[in-house]
Amino acid sequence: MKRRTFIRNTSIFTSGTLLASQKNFAIASPPKKVIILGAGIAGLGAAYQLQQRGIDYLLLEAKKRLGGRIFTQNITADLTVELGAEWIGASHLNLIELCNKLVLSLQNHQFDTDLLLNGQHQPFDQWQYSTAWQKQFAQLKEDFTKGSPKMLQQLDRLDWWHFLKKQGISQRDLEIRELLDSTDFGETIRHVSAFSAMGEYAFSSPKNEMDYKIQGGNSQLIEALAKQIGKEKIKTQHKVVAIAQDKKQVRITCDNQTTWEADAVICTLPTFAVSQIRFTPTLPASYQEALQSLQYARITKTAVLFNERFWSRENFDLISDTLPQYFFHSTKNQLETQGVLTAYSVGDRAYLMGKLTEQAKIKAIISALQPAFGDTFHLAQRVLSYDWSTDPYSYGAYAYYRPTQWYTIQKILAQPFKRVHFAGEHLAEWQGFMEGALTSGLETALAL
Ligand SMILES: Cc1cc2nc3c(=O)[nH]c(=O)nc-3n(C[C@H](O)[C@H](O)[C@H](O)COP(=O)(O)OP(=O)(O)OC[C@H]3O[C@@H](n4cnc5c(N)ncnc54)[C@H](O)[C@@H]3O)c2cc1C
Repeated sequence: MKRRTFIRNTSIFTSGTLLASQKNFAIASPPKKVIILGAGIAGLGAAYQLQQRGIDYLLLEAKKRLGGRIFTQNITADLTVELGAEWIGASHLNLIELCNKLVLSLQNHQFDTDLLLNGQHQPFDQWQYSTAWQKQFAQLKEDFTKGSPKMLQQLDRLDWWHFLKKQGISQRDLEIRELLDSTDFGETIRHVSAFSAMGEYAFSSPKNEMDYKIQGGNSQLIEALAKQIGKEKIKTQHKVVAIAQDKKQVRITCDNQTTWEADAVICTLPTFAVSQIRFTPTLPASYQEALQSLQYARITKTAVLFNERFWSRENFDLISDTLPQYFFHSTKNQLETQGVLTAYSVGDRAYLMGKLTEQAKIKAIISALQPAFGDTFHLAQRVLSYDWSTDPYSYGAYAYYRPTQWYTIQKILAQPFKRVHFAGEHLAEWQGFMEGALTSGLETALAL
């Protein structure tokens, strides 16, 4: 879920070329050996590209598992849930093409959203934004697609809440936008750049890029990619702690005292993780400052297994003004009697949900859904939950650019530092999405 600043009408696989975001690298000739930091989708994508180009590579990953913020878990022997990235958008061309290449099937993962506001439940076909706002918003989106660079940059100075207020949006429409849009950005719309928000809504697919997931779970892609690039090329439990470079090479040191040398590095780590690495020579002051300016959204996902699917509709989801906030049927298209509702809480709500015990999480979810379904406590079986704000590497789910930051710190963070080239979700045009992370890995490896 996130930004798109211009329409990409062909995938990097099809064209084999870079688009306008091409990076200007210091290294002229293709390097012989590249070390990739991080085995999330950006790092694995970079390795895939290097493999196609016949360039030698090695991946260093801090965790025991691969995939980073793609994190599928089995909640029963047969049912899987995503505790990290959930949806693949219809416009996510590189991701879709890679799934095709690796013979992974996509399944429909679209939903029709109920509303639960002030204790009143309204099924998806019985509520909508006011007609006036629907019309006005359609016009705003159209204006945005034709906006001059100056106009876009001006928009980036405002937060989404002030921008909507300036348009004269009604209190009810604004409240629903806050509830829904904050699930896209992972924090209240009072913190999000209006440019980021318009970029998201003006160019997204009709279901806001919440279209598919990978059959069997999104981690299938990680498994298939790791197999393709060679598992022996990936060193897990190798946390990078230092990077030293000179005119000839770059040397990486891990927390287990191993050292590794290469001609170039592709660093796909989230910004907090980068800030913990000792660089020699040190990163420019402007880069260090940028690392410390970018925040990541707080999201807690809580999946509850129920004995039966009391919500009846396979494509059920619901936005609410309760603590858990947003719910969806995460086992849609997984044919079992049991089913899972996942609560997706953001910002302060994510913090509060993250703090609850397992039983209290179930209670919070059941009591929030009470106006719609009555007491369902006896149907709850077990819970799986992950609070991304406590993840020791990203300390959040994905980056969110506050007003003015996209045109300033994003540009700084995207700059290579001598032999170290940066990639990852936070630097991508499709920022906040798997598509963005993958594309940035592919592009960076292609440009070396
Ligand atoms: C709750 C949640 C919901 C999301 N929903 C969606 C969605 O619906 N659709 C969508 O497209 N995207 C979604 N995303 C975003 C998506 O998951 C990310 O954009 C993408 O997975 C990021 O990939 P990456 O490779 O850039 O980073 P990561 O996946 O974070 O990979 C970086 C890797 O680096 C490793 N690492 C960190 N520090 C070190 C170190 N010092 N040494 C070695 N390794 C290190 C980490 O362990 C990690 O494996 C969601 C994310 C979350 C958390």
